[in-house]
Amino acid sequence: MQRRFPFRTLEPTFFSGLLDDPVLYLFIRPLGRGILLDCGRIQHLAKRVMKSLSALFISHAHMDHFMGIDTFVRSVHVSPRTIDIYGPPGLADKMACKLAGYVWNLTEAYWCSFRVHEVFADRIETALFPGSEGFVRQHLGVRSRPDRTIYQNQSIKVEAEECDHKIPSLIFKISERPSFQVDEEKLFQAGLVKGNWLRILQKNFQGTNQGNLPLRVLWQRKEGILEEAVEDQHSLYEKIRGERPEASIGYITDIGFNNKNIEKIFNLMKGVTLLVCECSFLKQEKGKARISAHLCSDDVNFLIDKLRPSFFLPMHLSKSYIHTWEKLYEELKIPPDVTLVRLPKYLTPQPLLPCEARKIVRKT
Ligand SMILES: [Zn+2]
Repeated sequence: MQRRFPFRTLEPTFFSGLLDDPVLYLFIRPLGRGILLDCGRIQHLAKRVMKSLSALFISHAHMDHFMGIDTFVRSVHVSPRTIDIYGPPGLADKMACKLAGYVWNLTEAYWCSFRVHEVFADRIETALFPGSEGFVRQHLGVRSRPDRTIYQNQSIKVEAEECDHKIPSLIFKISERPSFQVDEEKLFQAGLVKGNWLRILQKNFQGTNQGNLPLRVLWQRKEGILEEAVEDQHSLYEKIRGERPEASIGYITDIGFNNKNIEKIFNLMKGVTLLVCECSFLKQEKGKARISAHLCSDDVNFLIDKLRPSFFLPMHLSKSYIHTWEKLYEELKIPPDVTLVRLPKYLTPQPLLPCEARKIVRKT
């Protein structure tokens, strides 16, 4: 039987085949918006997908992870909103160069702005590129970064760690925010009875009890069911809360297999639900993997064995394996408690030859 992803608020779509540039789209159901991890070739993403994006997370600015930013800008630049872009130090310079490559004499006041956040180990530096002013860079400020978190909203949290790819390359973990959960067994043991009060407790937990409805819980007593007001709602919730861990997605690409990187991966990706991880080379080309600071199948087998994600999606195989790509799946050693997610060779449509284009264009 096929196992389903246990995500409550995240809907992941990997928009790439095994040999395509990696592009991971996460739709956040409660917000009706999405985020994108890496932005190489993205011309096959529907405009509706691009317009849903509120934030982009770029691992590093090698072309196969960043060249799609032009396509993205083309799709959204006349929308009246601000889009956040997170990436390693130096990304704002790259963005400035990209945007300076076009003529913007026809800008309107309602055009979108890009807010670029450069992620350092101890701080985040932010620059603004306002569309209304032709996307000329403005320095917005610096904020300290006390932990790995770089972005959060009411539904998700994104953490990042800088790894070594001969240049800084970010790996990301996206976690669903804690949900309101009640353990029915704990409820029973505490002598409580289900009722509308649970909905009010949930609203208080989520901060959505707009009418300030009073919380009156139901107790099972010898004399019957009694209703009683509760002052300490926090203790009450701690007594009955469920323990289901929050689901998360790990995204690792373009890093070398060295001790520092491995330690960072173990610390960040422990307990991850779905691991999306590069596997650029087969094991006989480990030397090439080491030279280019990428992972090979042996390295990936080591990582999955230690991390044991519920689901594992290998990606970003080198295009040099165009005829032998399926060998990757022979070399992977997937532990029995891990479900492998397989990709086709390509997901993107193949470019056309002149004869193919001529067949499509009709003469009348
Ligand atoms: Zn790279």
